[in-house]
Amino acid sequence: MPGFFNPHLYEKGSKGTPKNIPQCGKCGLSQKCLSPRMEVGGKGKRRILFVGEAPGETEDHRGIPFIGVSGMYLRKVVENLGVDMDDCWITNSIICRPQGNKIEQSMIACCRPNLLKTIRQLKPNVIILLGGSAVESLIRGLWKQDMGGISRWVGWTIPLAEYGAWVCPTYHPAYLLRQDKDVILALTFKNHLKKALSLEKITPKPLDLQKLESQIEIIQSHRKAEKRIWDLSKKSGILAFDFETSGLKPDRKKQRIVSISFCLDGKDTFACMVNPSLYDAIRAVLLSKRLKKVASNIKFEERWTLAKLGCGVACWNWDTMLAAHIIDNRSHISSVKFQAFVLLGLSDYDSHIKPYLETKVSNGINRIEELEEEVLLMYNGLDSLIEYKVMIKQKEIVRNGHLDKRLESC
Ligand code: URA
Repeated sequence: MPGFFNPHLYEKGSKGTPKNIPQCGKCGLSQKCLSPRMEVGGKGKRRILFVGEAPGETEDHRGIPFIGVSGMYLRKVVENLGVDMDDCWITNSIICRPQGNKIEQSMIACCRPNLLKTIRQLKPNVIILLGGSAVESLIRGLWKQDMGGISRWVGWTIPLAEYGAWVCPTYHPAYLLRQDKDVILALTFKNHLKKALSLEKITPKPLDLQKLESQIEIIQSHRKAEKRIWDLSKKSGILAFDFETSGLKPDRKKQRIVSISFCLDGKDTFACMVNPSLYDAIRAVLLSKRLKKVASNIKFEERWTLAKLGCGVACWNWDTMLAAHIIDNRSHISSVKFQAFVLLGLSDYDSHIKPYLETKVSNGINRIEELEEEVLLMYNGLDSLIEYKVMIKQKEIVRNGHLDKRLESC
């Protein structure tokens, strides 16, 4: 597993202090509870680690995680799926009981190094995140954009190189108990756990960003780019493509397609700058019926093609955004960035570029011109390659019938 423990988890925090060096004790909780720094529970025969929120009153009294009311409920659900929780490992995002069970973000941050150390030492193959605190602890550092609520995260099984494990968020059992008798929620919860437990012996294979980068050919010579695009127009296969543009909407004359990338059959990926002398070659590719097109949000590529190249795109095969929405209709999950994270474990390949692509108004001009050509083309190339890889995963999900089976009785 490449990069089991990622050094970027040690980045500086807002006050210049490293975020993840041990700060245990700083929150002061250990002095106010009966079982300070609670040990990990369970025997770990199964290499599955459950991560909850924090010990409650019962747990604090006995020094064992998840033995109170919500713990009992969780244990029963897991047992019904054929697994004894004591054969797994059980811990919390905060390992001392907070007074009055009141959780603060700073407690999670203080305790994160304890959890990271536990993961490093135990090397679980599956990490089940129970509720928002666990998601906050293990996902916030990797997903640089807005986190959204827990409902955005539940049910994914994310292969993460940073932890060398499948990371599987679901609801906290206490939440289920509070929604008492919500049958659909209970089945959904059970289904999440079933999916996570089934990964016990399957090695996660997250994609490695550096390896992807090495597959991208950046073409800066204009003549070479033109030849490459004409050659591509004579080939056949599944072609992901992506424009980088000066803004969101193409209608103003000033707006332009700045660069383009293509990924043919997941193998041949290149990116180049665009100017009107390449339009004939690009049109030949986009109009070819032997090349089945893939994009993320085809409305965008169609609209720009029509406005700047004067034609449409022939033979659409897949839209990763539309497919994401069909597979699972929750909001804020359909961007290729989010899909790449939850399906492929690619946590952050665009935060350095994002500010340059933003505009104040929807038809405004962005700052793409300020980017170095090579940086832009690498990002553009990655987008096509990643779109292609996301499409492959989505097709697998559709083919294998792994559509979100919320109502499936387990
Ligand atoms: N809830 C948790 O999150 N953890 C426990 O250990 C008990 C209840």
